[in-house]
Amino acid sequence: MKTLFRLLGLTRPFAWWMLLAAVIGFATVGSGIGLLMASAWLVSRGAMLLPASALQSGISGVRLFGAARGVLRYAERLVSHNTTFRILTRLRLWFYESVEPLAPARLAAYRSADLLKRIVDDIQSLENIYSRVVAPPVTALMVTALVWALVSRWSVEAALGVLACQLTAGAALPVAAALLSRGTARRIAGLQAEQQLLAVDMVQGLGELKAFGMLDEHLRRMRSAEERKLTLEKRAALVEGVQDTLSGLFMNAAVVWLLWQMLPMARSGSVGTVALTALVFGVTASFEAFLPLTGAVQHIEADIRAGERLFEIIDTEPEVVAPPAPLPFPAKGGIEARELRFTYPGSLRPALDGVSFTIPEGGRVAIVGPSGAGKSTIASLLVRFWNPSGGSLTIGGSALSSFDPETLRRHIAVVSQRTYLFGQSIRENLLLANPGASDADLGRALSAAGLDSLLPRLDEWAGQSGMNLSGGERQRIAIARMILQDAPIVVLDEATANLDAVTEQAVLETIDRSCQGKSVLAITHRLHRMERFDTILVLHEGKIVEQGAHGELLALDGFYAGMWHLQHRAEM
Ligand code: ATP
Repeated sequence: MKTLFRLLGLTRPFAWWMLLAAVIGFATVGSGIGLLMASAWLVSRGAMLLPASALQSGISGVRLFGAARGVLRYAERLVSHNTTFRILTRLRLWFYESVEPLAPARLAAYRSADLLKRIVDDIQSLENIYSRVVAPPVTALMVTALVWALVSRWSVEAALGVLACQLTAGAALPVAAALLSRGTARRIAGLQAEQQLLAVDMVQGLGELKAFGMLDEHLRRMRSAEERKLTLEKRAALVEGVQDTLSGLFMNAAVVWLLWQMLPMARSGSVGTVALTALVFGVTASFEAFLPLTGAVQHIEADIRAGERLFEIIDTEPEVVAPPAPLPFPAKGGIEARELRFTYPGSLRPALDGVSFTIPEGGRVAIVGPSGAGKSTIASLLVRFWNPSGGSLTIGGSALSSFDPETLRRHIAVVSQRTYLFGQSIRENLLLANPGASDADLGRALSAAGLDSLLPRLDEWAGQSGMNLSGGERQRIAIARMILQDAPIVVLDEATANLDAVTEQAVLETIDRSCQGKSVLAITHRLHRMERFDTILVLHEGKIVEQGAHGELLALDGFYAGMWHLQHRAEM
């Protein structure tokens, strides 16, 4: 219920639009009632063989209500959809704004297909809440009042019976149907999410599924989810069908009751037969207002579930928040880590356990160590994807938390092992690093990254996730982005891991050239040309076990020397 009220609370800025939609909705159903009543009046009077002049007001009524009904229906659709889409737009923006600060730390717990479902389907399904739940009950209430006014004028007993039928069709039946199919909508939504996850795994992991002979098993799981969903959908459809039928039955019951009460009055002459006929048709037409309520209550459960899934993300506290009065990014100064500690949420072992190092301004520092030693974690802390659990990390003497995270990230260029390219043109993928870059700047950056061949292809589509480019080309685009960003600090996280030895050599030289005067932190497995670093930090199980220049570390004949000899022996 709390979720429903929260969702309804979002409509507050659009309350007048919703009310307008409800009023036009009422006018539409009112025109329908008027049309049928005028027609009934006209047909009844026509049957009495009255002259045409006596039928004139009926003819005008049919014309007026007939035309008004079409125009009003159109206006009602226009206003209610306009309102719904405004609300959905607001919700989408709000959701994106809430999700952005959560990336990547807080979103790591969600699978991408799950997030996609929340962003696309869950928000879309809230359309129901606004188009079916808010305005139609208000319209139905107004119509109930109108019919009460029309019928009770002649007979309160007749009006009471009609009211009872309307309440049953408009409220009791939908609620009973919702209770009967309780949990169904929620389970259907859960199965839809499961299907989406399976479909994404199927598309993205098709190669692995085939290679490990698991494709049939995966397809079996997809079929099973589909069958379970179909069973639930059939049950929901059955309840909906029975409810529709019963609604129709109560509409007819209202007419029978009306006639039962008012036929004696017609016989006694206290009500005209023409008026009674018009009333019968008016009551029938009034049930149009209760039809939209049928599905409303039934879908509320699924809509609330969608709302819950959205609020779950929206209510998550971001790992990193901007300080109220951020410091300007220091023009000078190195990076310093003191007793830096970090443990990933849910992990028992610290990824970093008391790491201290200094990168002087313009200095070049490498971090080496076995897989899982905590190297990439240092890079993640530096760009503030996470906050340290203990110790300090400063730039120019100020803690990272004193800068605006966006400003900080603009001043640190990261080239990682996995470069993500958007499904846009190569130009747009480059402009991400520097939206104001000219064609000449793009050309220079591509040339420096050894990608002259891409110059004529700038406007070509990079493909889904950059699939139209080779792994090496994607990596060099990341380097071109780094050059375009022109940040004073550069983090290279296995930046040349996907390149062959010859290209790697060329790219390393390019990086060296483009990083002149910048502070560089390079994370690497491959111990190549290590002499170019001022300091090498050797990380093992979250601790720095050795540090110094390449020659010093070799002379030490410790962990680093062991790694170096092992690699170089293996390469010989
Ligand atoms: P590699 O060279 O293989 O990339 P690394 O030295 O960069 O390894 P990190 O990625 O920093 O190592 O990981 C350090 C430790 O933290 C590892 O034990 C890893 O399993 C763990 N870890 C990394 N990312 C997460 C995460 N998001 N959640 C939980 N644990 C994580």
